[in-house]
Amino acid sequence: MTVFEKSGDIGGRLATRRRAGGFWNHGAPAMEARTPPFVDFLQDLEAHGSVRSFANLLYDEDAAAPGLLWRGCPDMREALRPLQTGLDIVFRAEISRLERRNGRWLLASASGDIHGPFDALILTPPAAQARALLTRSGLPAPWLSEDVLMHPCWALLLGFENSGSGIQRAGTSDVVARVASGGALASSEPGGFAETWVIHAQPAWSRAHLECGREEIAELLLGDVARQLVRTSGREARLQPAYVSAHRWRHARTLQPLGTSHIWLEDQRLGIAGDWCLGATAEDAFLSGRALAEQILGRSAALRTVA
Ligand SMILES: Cc1cc2nc3c(=O)[nH]c(=O)nc-3n(C[C@H](O)[C@H](O)[C@H](O)COP(=O)(O)OP(=O)(O)OC[C@H]3O[C@@H](n4cnc5c(N)ncnc54)[C@H](O)[C@@H]3O)c2cc1C
Repeated sequence: MTVFEKSGDIGGRLATRRRAGGFWNHGAPAMEARTPPFVDFLQDLEAHGSVRSFANLLYDEDAAAPGLLWRGCPDMREALRPLQTGLDIVFRAEISRLERRNGRWLLASASGDIHGPFDALILTPPAAQARALLTRSGLPAPWLSEDVLMHPCWALLLGFENSGSGIQRAGTSDVVARVASGGALASSEPGGFAETWVIHAQPAWSRAHLECGREEIAELLLGDVARQLVRTSGREARLQPAYVSAHRWRHARTLQPLGTSHIWLEDQRLGIAGDWCLGATAEDAFLSGRALAEQILGRSAALRTVA
């Protein structure tokens, strides 16, 4: 089995930006586990030291159920590192075209390399990207419903040289959906930040500002956080981060899932999985991938097959 990944590392939206002096988990800040298989999976990773459970301290308007959350160790990018062992992964290989020839799959990367032939193909990009890849390849996918929707998210990454920003008191607004600590602090290192924060913008706001420049987004989000601080703590905030960077997630979280765990086309040996099949979380991604794997390995007859 060969994995083709367009970025330079594993993790996908379990992402970390690393810079001298600090790091920011700018995709999922943590993972919740609600089903026994995912709890078992995370406990296995914990035994390998790549995740750690902790009390739910996220300042999140959807945090309905306080309890345990799981975070990558030392950062989210590392959460899945133990899974990489033994896998043949080709990094910086964006697959731009697929071709089915003589019952087998050929993959063309954006750089022009051709990979394959392979007996079976599994696609796991966000829904819109999977659909675009299939359409571009002349492979209509009527079974991949147009109703599947994922919303974008602008993330703001902040680093402060001194502690006491008070940002954790800012709360949410029409603009800001979530304020999360950026992870372990590195203030003891030269140039290290005393505080790192990640601000996630609201879905509607992110959509309305999707094509704005990063600098403009950073200014708007920082301004909103400062206003929230005045509102919630009653004092003027002087937010002067030493590090400011905005990151756009075009397909961040699922709004409308497919409603079935995965797709497997036996005649074409083509499988599709991803969080968006079931929902908006890392657990949904895990359950989707696992259901597809079980079907390919012939361990489950009860799962949906699209013929
Ligand atoms: C801002 C934000 C906040 C989130 N908060 C939470 C949270 O609190 N809790 C939670 O559980 N989840 C959260 N999530 C969602 C969670 O990150 C996802 O559900 C999960 O990572 C999805 O995994 P996946 O494998 O389905 O997709 P992805 O992680 O998106 O992986 C898809 C991979 O495919 C690669 N790829 C795409 N197209 C190609 C191509 N053509 N060729 C090669 N490679 C390609 C991508 O580079 C990527 O690595 C959040 C996500 C974001 C962005």
